[in-house]
Amino acid sequence: MQRVYLDHAATTPLAPDVLEAMRPHLTEHYGNASSVHQYGRQARVTLEEARERVAECIGAQPSEIVFTSGGTEADNLAVKGVLAAASEDGALAGLVTSAAEHEAVLQPAERLQEEGHPVTILSPDAHGAVPPEQVDAAIDEHTALVSLMHANNEIGVRTDIPAIAEVCNANDVLLHCDAVQTAGLLSVDVDELGVDLLSLSAHKFYGPKGVGALFVRGGVDLGPLVEGGSQERERRGGTENVPGVVGLAEALERAVDDADERAERLSRLQRRLVDGLDDAVPGPYVLNTPVDDAPVAPHVVNVAFPPVGEEPLDGEMLILNLDMSGVLVSAGSACTSGALEPSHVLTAIGLERETASAAVRFSLGADTTEEDVDYALDTLHDTLDRMRE
Ligand code: PLP
Repeated sequence: MQRVYLDHAATTPLAPDVLEAMRPHLTEHYGNASSVHQYGRQARVTLEEARERVAECIGAQPSEIVFTSGGTEADNLAVKGVLAAASEDGALAGLVTSAAEHEAVLQPAERLQEEGHPVTILSPDAHGAVPPEQVDAAIDEHTALVSLMHANNEIGVRTDIPAIAEVCNANDVLLHCDAVQTAGLLSVDVDELGVDLLSLSAHKFYGPKGVGALFVRGGVDLGPLVEGGSQERERRGGTENVPGVVGLAEALERAVDDADERAERLSRLQRRLVDGLDDAVPGPYVLNTPVDDAPVAPHVVNVAFPPVGEEPLDGEMLILNLDMSGVLVSAGSACTSGALEPSHVLTAIGLERETASAAVRFSLGADTTEEDVDYALDTLHDTLDRMRE
């Protein structure tokens, strides 16, 4: 049976060349980068080279890169780390973020709020973005950090990060950007974006799982999240994952090298998918990725199916039926699929619960072809027809 993987926003396969680059560091070069003997020194050199390579890809200094276990940890470190460092006894620092952020930002935000930090969670506009004026209005004397994502992982809508950076600068507030969905696909040059902190994760751009990085602009104070060692300039304890960071550096360099070409290809496929929905969907649908009305990432198309008559469509069943026909997609973010709650992003942009519960996210990747898109559309058509009968 044909199998079409359209879940690249959840994860991507490890590129064979990336695996080859990692292999020696998984086997013969196994030294601990903190050991003083030659094996350790060799690992340290490899680690610092990887740091330089990652820094170069995003326009940063090597000292501004903190390696983490992935995007979730990078987001946690940014949000909790900055607020911890900016708080003083009796004056807890505040955070401004949006209801459409990834849970890796939202859950720490909720925790910080429970601890007494002033936290403002903005409602995004109908497209899912947060306009700069809204951020400006939300910043007050307590705010230390604004955290907003570069592109949304569920619906692909992009935030105008440079404009928000201007607002943050004018208010003397730090800006963190979760660029997990865009790093390696769109430029995430930290100076062009104007951010103070930026998260990325290797497995979203054909690197290994379990490794990511947080850019922390020089001079930004950050409390550690993981304690127990002085690694990463005391910002992240734990033996460094040398093979992982080599994979991260290799994958990011490769992705950045052909980012423009890939983004163009993906945009064409995205357009083909969106244009095919009218024929593919028997009945009403809501396109949650505003391809014609707002800037979007080129790899995501999110579409929801409102109830017809009294009968809501079972979103989980839709995903499983598509899977059985060889089309692998997500219901929302991979981290929340399996939960019965409708996507917090889709409800934040105003979808009714029943419609939000019946949504599909197609996400395209480097190997996706026009035939894959057409097969997905045909399969969607047949599956919806069968389910609606
Ligand atoms: N942030 C965004 C926008 C994501 O899409 C994801 C993963 O789905 C994460 C953070 C978490 O990254 P990781 O899987 O590396 O922990």
